[in-house]
Amino acid sequence: ELRSLQYGREDKVHVSIRVRPTDETQAWAVASAESSLKLLPQYHKSTGAPLPQYHYDEVLAGSDNKVVYNATARGHVEAAMNGFNAVVFAYGQTASGKTFTLSGSEEQPGIIPRAMKDVFGHIRRTPSREYLLRCSYLEIYNESIFDLLAPPSARLAANTVQIQGIGETVVLSPLREEVVTSLKGVHDVVERGYANRRTASTDWNERSSRSHSVFRLVIESRERGSQDPSDDGRATPFAPHMPGGARLQNKNGRSVQMSVLSLIDLAGSEKASSDKDRTREGRYINTSLLTLGSVIGTLAENSAKGKNDHVPFRNSKLTRMLQPSLSGNARISVICTINPVPSALAETTSSLLFAQRVK
Ligand code: ADP
Ligand code: MG
Repeated sequence: ELRSLQYGREDKVHVSIRVRPTDETQAWAVASAESSLKLLPQYHKSTGAPLPQYHYDEVLAGSDNKVVYNATARGHVEAAMNGFNAVVFAYGQTASGKTFTLSGSEEQPGIIPRAMKDVFGHIRRTPSREYLLRCSYLEIYNESIFDLLAPPSARLAANTVQIQGIGETVVLSPLREEVVTSLKGVHDVVERGYANRRTASTDWNERSSRSHSVFRLVIESRERGSQDPSDDGRATPFAPHMPGGARLQNKNGRSVQMSVLSLIDLAGSEKASSDKDRTREGRYINTSLLTLGSVIGTLAENSAKGKNDHVPFRNSKLTRMLQPSLSGNARISVICTINPVPSALAETTSSLLFAQRVK
């Protein structure tokens, strides 16, 4: 049995493993206690390798999405409500449980619906501040960004949404940002984006496993109490997203807090296995997941060791788009989902190594 080290809660990057349930008697990994991954003898038998030593913040098993949310995302949502950019990623091979973790089911809502519930809970409990929430939903496929909330003509064409930005700031344009004022409002936007995602391709399974889907909530807030009717509270309608999270002045000189919460269902991490897979898509996924690993890994190391190594944000659309949400005081959570069956062993091992790399 391998025990992982317990890291401080305030680490820049929180890394957890989620082991999905399986009926297979051959399963080689089960989570035993919090933060440890128990590898059964089958692991050694299948790989012939000595048991590796892995370190994570938690290892979670089972189907309870509330437990997963509380351990991996709740603190990040709270940070976003307090003005810090935050990102939650689900990483893993296709069918390992990324979408179950982020979106969930009717009985087991995932991180997105739970986060939105907490956002509105926070607003209710904070009457001294006024909030403006805008959400967007996009997909990155073949290194091209697709706005899932745009009308079909704009949604279906590649390279419509461009990343603009100077230095560390980023603006995505044109990108729909829907103002939402209720849980129901967000739910409708999420449903619409999800439905659009399905219709964007003739081969939905193929595309969904090969694209990153990004749900984003931009949170602006200010102290209540302005008597000036022309003061609409917004910093500037489309202020660039700033590293870490921003404190801005609006046109009336009032201070506005702005942060972005991004919840990301990554493309399947599996390696190209057939000729078909060795196409453009396969290469793009691998490059962008590789870049993500080196970006987060470098950020974690810079943060832990007080270093200032170059972070290759510009090597992929995903990391460049997220640059302000990953740098500065931003908080990151990576949930690696694994399927503990022998046939998935090679992919699982590579997911565990990815998780270790980003810690
Ligand atoms: P991915 O998005 O990584 O491709 P899914 O989330 O679609 O994988 O999961 C594949 C299947 O396994 C789905 O039917 C899903 O409901 C189920 N599943 C995944 N993880 C769990 C879990 N922790 N508990 C119960 N069912 C799960
Ligand atoms: Mg999925």
